[in-house]
Amino acid sequence: MDFAYLSLTELREKLDKKEISSVELTKYFLGRIKKSDLNAFITVSEEEAVQQAKAADDFIASPGENPFLCGIPYAAKDMFLTKGIPTTAASEILDNYIPPYDATVIGKLKDQKSVLLGKLNQDQFAHGSSGETSAYGPTKNPWDKTRLTGGSSSGSGASVSAGLSPFALGTDTGGSIRNPAAHCGVTGYKPTYGRVSRYGVIAMASSLDSIGFLSLSVEDAAHITEIIAGQDPKDSTTGQVEVPAYAKNFKNNLNGVKIGIPKEYFIEGMEEGVKAKVLEAVKELEKLGAQTVEVSLPTTRYAQMVYAIICPSEISSNLARYDGIRYGHTVHGTAKDLMEVYTRSRAEGFGDEAKRRIMTGTYVLSAGYYDAYYKKAQKVRSLIIKEFAEVFKKVDVLVAPATPSVATKLGSAADNPLHGYIADQLNIPASLAGLCAISIPCGFARPSDGDAPSLDGLPVGLQIIGPQFGEQKIFNVGYAYQQATDWHKKHPLV
Ligand code: GLN
Repeated sequence: MDFAYLSLTELREKLDKKEISSVELTKYFLGRIKKSDLNAFITVSEEEAVQQAKAADDFIASPGENPFLCGIPYAAKDMFLTKGIPTTAASEILDNYIPPYDATVIGKLKDQKSVLLGKLNQDQFAHGSSGETSAYGPTKNPWDKTRLTGGSSSGSGASVSAGLSPFALGTDTGGSIRNPAAHCGVTGYKPTYGRVSRYGVIAMASSLDSIGFLSLSVEDAAHITEIIAGQDPKDSTTGQVEVPAYAKNFKNNLNGVKIGIPKEYFIEGMEEGVKAKVLEAVKELEKLGAQTVEVSLPTTRYAQMVYAIICPSEISSNLARYDGIRYGHTVHGTAKDLMEVYTRSRAEGFGDEAKRRIMTGTYVLSAGYYDAYYKKAQKVRSLIIKEFAEVFKKVDVLVAPATPSVATKLGSAADNPLHGYIADQLNIPASLAGLCAISIPCGFARPSDGDAPSLDGLPVGLQIIGPQFGEQKIFNVGYAYQQATDWHKKHPLV
């Protein structure tokens, strides 16, 4: 029996009816992971996974209702602290770090008795949009192994797309969930800033980081969000905002929904195929009853520049804790082990991209430059936030492309420090404003940089952006679209 690509609801039913056990399901996905050659995982925690699955099976065998994700496997980007399981952020400085505690989100999934299969590859410290800055090498795109998955949640994109895990946790600071979701043809959800706890997730840029995941559908996304979202006393940026039963509120039509199409998101240089597919999707949304209107967000063009100042500033201060003394050495061990233990200096422990960002950030924050760059960037950020707030008085959600192109060739980001800023220029504005957004598959387009493995081309992502804590609105639009289309049901041959 084939269990890859079943919805979470279907998996729940099979587990509840005992058509399959969690151990069988877990071994099934571990088998697929072993066979895959995508470099999606950094650590496969096989033993722990089977143990967790056994505990889930015991729970299912006992009387009473099972939590929604009980016995269902998942994987996590290597930014999430996992007690007893290595957490590297795909960096050398943390290559032997074993966290003593779990991130809040990992803890919530443990409470559900969900099964962690392992830790996923990513750009180092989540710096990038390609997966190529990983100290463990790039992840390959399941649709075309000569191409990138996008990033920084590269392994999360490959894992869900190739059916290696039913869903995968990721982080999105300036597009890192939406970008690989678009390039790998899966659903990727970036929550409102503060909707999901950041506690225990390695910090990149603290005023931008949001904790989300990639999944096979918007319906699955709604279910997962209901579980992982909410206030956390350990993260003061999580608000006391109720978490609705998103999935229960779904409708099959979009009657009465107002959708804005921001004209600035159809930038020069965008691939024609991407634009065409997104506009086709807009027509589909109209057929479902939505009213669409062109809107203008003139500050869009400054977003990338603002991000290029704020993001490295926050990175330089967050990465200061990796001083080569506190992390990077074994916590337990014999005297002999400890003799062999070494700490990496910052020079050898950080990759080029991290160093570039530390240097830029330190420069921008230094006396004399702070006012000229950082303060100015914060002012423009306020304008961007205000502009979105104005537009959301007129429309419920915004619909736009997630990326200007389909997946590019392996190697195309490695020598281009600007790659991430270009690839994520349509994702960064929503990040700066702390909005919620989702990328869902809306078709295939031919790449402009060479051949595609099939005549149809590579996946295109449709981005739906909503106001702060407006997840119900973006989920509703995505859900209705996925009821009427089957792009999210197309999977690569792996
Ligand atoms: N591309 C952006 C960057 O390189 C986004 C990264 C992210 O969201 N983690 O910074």
